[in-house]
Amino acid sequence: MPGPEDYDAGPFVPVGADLQGLRDAAAGCRGCPLFREATRTVFGSGEASARVVLVGEQPGDQEDRKGEPFVGPAGGVLTRALAEAGIDPAEAYVTNAVKHFKFERQERGKRRIHKAPTLHEISACRPWLASELRLIGPEVVVALGATAGKSLLGSSFRVTQQRGVPLVLPPDGDGEAGGTLVATIHPSAVLRADAAARAGAYAGLIADLGVAARLLDDGSR
Ligand code: SF4
Repeated sequence: MPGPEDYDAGPFVPVGADLQGLRDAAAGCRGCPLFREATRTVFGSGEASARVVLVGEQPGDQEDRKGEPFVGPAGGVLTRALAEAGIDPAEAYVTNAVKHFKFERQERGKRRIHKAPTLHEISACRPWLASELRLIGPEVVVALGATAGKSLLGSSFRVTQQRGVPLVLPPDGDGEAGGTLVATIHPSAVLRADAAARAGAYAGLIADLGVAARLLDDGSR
Protein backbone atom coordinates (compact mmCIF):
# COMPACT_ATOMS: atom_id res chain seq x y z
CA MET A 1 0.00 0.00 0.00
CA PRO A 2 1.70 3.26 -1.08
CA GLY A 3 2.11 5.90 1.65
CA PRO A 4 1.74 9.69 1.41
CA GLU A 5 5.39 9.99 0.40
CA ASP A 6 4.49 8.07 -2.78
CA TYR A 7 1.69 10.43 -3.87
CA ASP A 8 2.58 11.74 -7.34
CA ALA A 9 0.63 13.18 -10.28
CA GLY A 10 3.72 12.80 -12.49
CA PRO A 11 2.70 9.49 -14.16
CA PHE A 12 -0.62 11.07 -15.22
CA VAL A 13 0.93 14.11 -16.94
CA PRO A 14 1.10 13.56 -20.73
CA VAL A 15 4.35 14.48 -22.42
CA GLY A 16 4.06 17.17 -25.10
CA ALA A 17 0.42 18.01 -24.39
CA ASP A 18 -1.01 21.50 -24.80
CA LEU A 19 -3.12 23.11 -22.08
CA GLN A 20 -6.28 21.36 -23.22
CA GLY A 21 -4.44 18.04 -23.29
CA LEU A 22 -3.23 18.63 -19.74
CA ARG A 23 -6.72 19.59 -18.63
CA ASP A 24 -8.20 16.44 -20.16
CA ALA A 25 -5.56 14.22 -18.57
CA ALA A 26 -5.87 15.89 -15.16
CA ALA A 27 -9.54 14.89 -15.11
CA GLY A 28 -8.36 11.32 -14.58
CA CYS A 29 -5.56 12.01 -12.10
CA ARG A 30 -5.27 9.55 -9.22
CA GLY A 31 -1.94 10.87 -7.95
CA CYS A 32 -3.17 11.26 -4.37
CA PRO A 33 -6.35 10.32 -2.50
CA LEU A 34 -8.05 13.73 -2.90
CA PHE A 35 -9.85 12.67 -6.10
CA ARG A 36 -11.96 10.20 -4.11
CA GLU A 37 -14.21 12.65 -2.26
CA ALA A 38 -14.12 15.64 -4.61
CA THR A 39 -16.57 15.97 -7.51
CA ARG A 40 -14.00 16.65 -10.20
CA THR A 41 -10.53 17.95 -11.02
CA VAL A 42 -10.53 21.73 -11.25
CA PHE A 43 -7.79 22.65 -13.70
CA GLY A 44 -6.50 26.15 -14.47
CA SER A 45 -8.39 28.61 -16.63
CA GLY A 46 -7.09 31.14 -19.12
CA GLU A 47 -5.01 31.43 -22.27
CA ALA A 48 -1.59 29.94 -22.95
CA SER A 49 -0.55 33.49 -23.90
CA ALA A 50 -1.26 34.81 -20.39
CA ARG A 51 1.40 37.19 -19.04
CA VAL A 52 0.63 36.48 -15.41
CA VAL A 53 -0.33 33.23 -13.67
CA LEU A 54 -2.20 33.47 -10.37
CA VAL A 55 -1.87 30.39 -8.20
CA GLY A 56 -4.29 29.73 -5.35
CA GLU A 57 -4.48 26.88 -2.87
CA GLN A 58 -7.18 24.48 -4.03
CA PRO A 59 -10.72 24.66 -5.41
CA GLY A 60 -13.45 25.50 -2.91
CA ASP A 61 -16.97 24.18 -2.65
CA GLN A 62 -18.35 26.18 -5.60
CA GLU A 63 -15.29 25.60 -7.75
CA ASP A 64 -15.65 21.86 -7.13
CA ARG A 65 -19.29 21.98 -8.23
CA LYS A 66 -18.69 24.18 -11.29
CA GLY A 67 -15.31 22.84 -12.39
CA GLU A 68 -13.68 26.27 -12.71
CA PRO A 69 -11.15 27.96 -10.41
CA PHE A 70 -11.99 31.14 -8.49
CA VAL A 71 -15.70 31.24 -9.25
CA GLY A 72 -16.74 31.38 -5.56
CA PRO A 73 -16.65 34.24 -3.06
CA ALA A 74 -12.84 34.36 -2.95
CA GLY A 75 -12.84 34.63 -6.74
CA GLY A 76 -15.07 37.68 -6.47
CA VAL A 77 -12.55 39.33 -4.12
CA LEU A 78 -9.71 38.43 -6.47
CA THR A 79 -11.47 39.84 -9.53
CA ARG A 80 -12.08 43.17 -7.78
CA ALA A 81 -8.55 43.32 -6.39
CA LEU A 82 -7.03 42.61 -9.82
CA ALA A 83 -9.03 45.45 -11.33
CA GLU A 84 -7.98 47.85 -8.58
CA ALA A 85 -4.34 46.81 -8.91
CA GLY A 86 -4.46 47.38 -12.68
CA ILE A 87 -4.08 43.79 -13.88
CA ASP A 88 -6.20 42.92 -16.90
CA PRO A 89 -8.03 39.63 -16.18
CA ALA A 90 -7.71 38.80 -19.89
CA GLU A 91 -3.93 38.62 -19.40
CA ALA A 92 -4.22 36.33 -16.39
CA TYR A 93 -4.35 32.55 -16.08
CA VAL A 94 -5.78 31.34 -12.77
CA THR A 95 -5.08 27.97 -11.25
CA ASN A 96 -4.46 26.21 -7.95
CA ALA A 97 -1.53 24.40 -6.38
CA VAL A 98 -3.83 21.44 -5.65
CA LYS A 99 -6.48 20.54 -8.23
CA HIS A 100 -9.02 18.68 -6.08
CA PHE A 101 -11.18 20.11 -3.27
CA LYS A 102 -10.15 18.80 0.16
CA PHE A 103 -12.84 19.11 2.79
CA GLU A 104 -14.53 17.55 5.77
CA ARG A 105 -18.27 17.14 6.14
CA GLN A 106 -20.12 18.88 8.94
CA GLU A 107 -23.78 19.19 9.96
CA ARG A 108 -24.46 15.53 9.19
CA GLY A 109 -22.76 15.75 5.84
CA LYS A 110 -24.68 18.77 4.56
CA ARG A 111 -21.76 21.22 4.65
CA ARG A 112 -18.35 20.66 3.14
CA ILE A 113 -15.74 22.62 5.07
CA HIS A 114 -12.39 23.40 3.46
CA LYS A 115 -9.43 21.50 4.85
CA ALA A 116 -5.86 22.55 4.05
CA PRO A 117 -3.88 20.12 1.89
CA THR A 118 -0.82 18.45 3.39
CA LEU A 119 2.70 18.98 2.08
CA HIS A 120 2.55 15.49 0.52
CA GLU A 121 -0.63 16.43 -1.38
CA ILE A 122 0.84 19.77 -2.47
CA SER A 123 3.95 18.04 -3.71
CA ALA A 124 1.94 15.30 -5.45
CA CYS A 125 -0.02 17.85 -7.46
CA ARG A 126 2.99 19.99 -8.34
CA PRO A 127 3.64 18.28 -11.74
CA TRP A 128 0.36 19.76 -13.02
CA LEU A 129 1.28 23.27 -11.89
CA ALA A 130 4.82 22.88 -13.24
CA SER A 131 3.40 21.80 -16.62
CA GLU A 132 1.02 24.77 -16.73
CA LEU A 133 3.87 27.18 -15.96
CA ARG A 134 6.17 25.54 -18.51
CA LEU A 135 3.57 25.84 -21.28
CA ILE A 136 2.54 29.39 -20.48
CA GLY A 137 5.93 30.84 -19.54
CA PRO A 138 4.41 33.85 -17.76
CA GLU A 139 6.33 37.03 -17.04
CA VAL A 140 5.08 37.01 -13.45
CA VAL A 141 3.66 34.31 -11.18
CA VAL A 142 1.54 35.40 -8.21
CA ALA A 143 1.32 33.01 -5.26
CA LEU A 144 -1.96 33.58 -3.44
CA GLY A 145 -1.36 32.33 0.08
CA ALA A 146 0.89 29.90 1.89
CA THR A 147 0.01 26.72 0.00
CA ALA A 148 0.81 28.24 -3.39
CA GLY A 149 4.04 29.69 -1.96
CA LYS A 150 5.09 26.34 -0.52
CA SER A 151 4.34 24.59 -3.82
CA LEU A 152 6.42 27.08 -5.78
CA LEU A 153 9.19 28.01 -3.34
CA GLY A 154 9.38 25.11 -0.88
CA SER A 155 8.05 24.25 2.55
CA SER A 156 9.97 27.02 4.35
CA PHE A 157 7.93 29.71 2.53
CA ARG A 158 6.15 32.15 4.87
CA VAL A 159 3.66 34.50 3.26
CA THR A 160 3.88 37.04 6.10
CA GLN A 161 7.63 37.40 5.58
CA GLN A 162 7.88 37.13 1.80
CA ARG A 163 4.83 38.90 0.43
CA GLY A 164 4.80 41.99 -1.76
CA VAL A 165 8.34 41.84 -3.15
CA PRO A 166 9.65 40.31 -6.38
CA LEU A 167 11.14 36.88 -5.61
CA VAL A 168 13.13 34.55 -7.82
CA LEU A 169 11.10 31.57 -8.98
CA PRO A 170 13.62 28.73 -9.27
CA PRO A 171 13.78 26.60 -12.42
CA ASP A 172 11.71 23.43 -12.27
CA GLY A 173 13.19 19.96 -12.27
CA ASP A 174 13.47 19.89 -16.07
CA GLY A 175 15.81 22.85 -16.04
CA GLU A 176 13.26 25.23 -17.50
CA ALA A 177 13.78 28.90 -16.78
CA GLY A 178 12.26 30.12 -13.54
CA GLY A 179 10.95 33.64 -13.46
CA THR A 180 9.63 36.25 -11.09
CA LEU A 181 7.15 35.54 -8.35
CA VAL A 182 5.17 37.87 -6.13
CA ALA A 183 3.45 36.42 -3.08
CA THR A 184 0.40 37.73 -1.30
CA ILE A 185 -2.43 36.46 0.87
CA HIS A 186 -5.17 34.25 -0.50
CA PRO A 187 -8.29 36.34 -1.21
CA SER A 188 -10.26 34.08 1.16
CA ALA A 189 -8.17 35.59 3.99
CA VAL A 190 -9.94 38.90 3.28
CA LEU A 191 -13.30 37.16 3.70
CA ARG A 192 -12.18 35.44 6.90
CA ALA A 193 -10.82 38.65 8.48
CA ASP A 194 -13.06 40.26 11.10
CA ALA A 195 -14.73 43.55 10.27
CA ALA A 196 -11.95 45.62 11.85
CA ALA A 197 -9.20 43.92 9.86
CA ARG A 198 -10.97 43.34 6.55
CA ALA A 199 -10.24 46.68 4.88
CA GLY A 200 -6.58 46.42 5.78
CA ALA A 201 -6.35 42.85 4.49
CA TYR A 202 -7.95 43.88 1.20
CA ALA A 203 -5.67 46.91 0.84
CA GLY A 204 -2.67 44.65 1.44
CA LEU A 205 -3.84 42.27 -1.27
CA ILE A 206 -4.20 45.15 -3.74
CA ALA A 207 -0.78 46.55 -2.80
CA ASP A 208 0.90 43.18 -3.41
CA LEU A 209 -0.92 42.70 -6.71
CA GLY A 210 0.22 46.22 -7.58
CA VAL A 211 3.84 45.00 -7.36
CA ALA A 212 2.98 42.33 -9.96
CA ALA A 213 1.18 44.94 -12.09
CA ARG A 214 4.27 47.17 -12.13
CA LEU A 215 6.46 44.24 -13.17
CA LEU A 216 4.05 43.62 -16.05
CA ASP A 217 4.12 47.31 -16.98
CA ASP A 218 7.93 47.28 -16.99
CA GLY A 219 7.82 44.19 -19.22
CA SER A 220 5.63 45.95 -21.80
CA ARG A 221 7.98 48.91 -22.22
S1 SF4 B 1 -5.08 16.66 -5.93
FE1 SF4 B 1 -3.68 16.70 -7.66
S2 SF4 B 1 -2.35 14.88 -7.41
FE2 SF4 B 1 -4.17 14.61 -6.10
S3 SF4 B 1 -5.57 13.42 -7.40
FE3 SF4 B 1 -6.08 15.60 -7.61
S4 SF4 B 1 -4.98 16.27 -9.44
FE4 SF4 B 1 -4.06 14.33 -8.78
